[in-house]
Amino acid sequence: MLNLVVFGPPGCGKGTQSSRIAENFGLVHLSTGEILRHEIRKATVLGRKVEIFIQKGLLVPDMLILRKFYQIALRHIHSRGLVFDGFPRTVHQAKILDKMLAKKGMPITLVIAMVVDAEELFRRLKGRAEDSGRCDDNEEVFHERMKVFDRQTKPLYDYYNKQNKIVYINGMRPVNVVFNEIARTIESFINKRENAPRQV
Ligand code: AMP
Repeated sequence: MLNLVVFGPPGCGKGTQSSRIAENFGLVHLSTGEILRHEIRKATVLGRKVEIFIQKGLLVPDMLILRKFYQIALRHIHSRGLVFDGFPRTVHQAKILDKMLAKKGMPITLVIAMVVDAEELFRRLKGRAEDSGRCDDNEEVFHERMKVFDRQTKPLYDYYNKQNKIVYINGMRPVNVVFNEIARTIESFINKRENAPRQV
């Protein structure tokens, strides 16, 4: 099983790259942002509760998001692997994910950290704001999401560095170039894993 986490600041391209990775390697793309937006569109109880947090650019509290996340992740536990896009977003969530996967004996394989500078993120947001239809794609909320990323998500670099699982990908280049590098990185990881001497 191949379990990947793709993470980075808002607008780094993690959604686009995650869906291409999933398609290319036959994995399930699990985007928590998409799951929540779907709930909002369907005006479910959960959707109504999370909408206000998303509109403000804040993280949805764990007590609202975790049950849904488990439900969907566990549904795909027998697939070839999962691409986690937007989860974890805090060290607490990362620990929960590690525990959940450890129980199933299939830990996170690789963490792909997309690196894009603040100026470029802002430029992309402005381009995206007009046609994405997302309630959190506007300048004010973008700044809040950046702050949330700095405060709550950045500690994940350290968390996954300590586990020796993180690879940094320069996300400032065209989508195809970025994807090709990610794909090469994943393939080389798979080759190494397959050629590693088996433990007896
Ligand atoms: P994204 O599509 O990944 O940019 O996520 C959009 C919004 O959904 C975020 O700004 C949060 O409000 C919410 N969200 C997505 N994933 C999570 C998560 N793992 N924990 C809390 N909130 C989340």
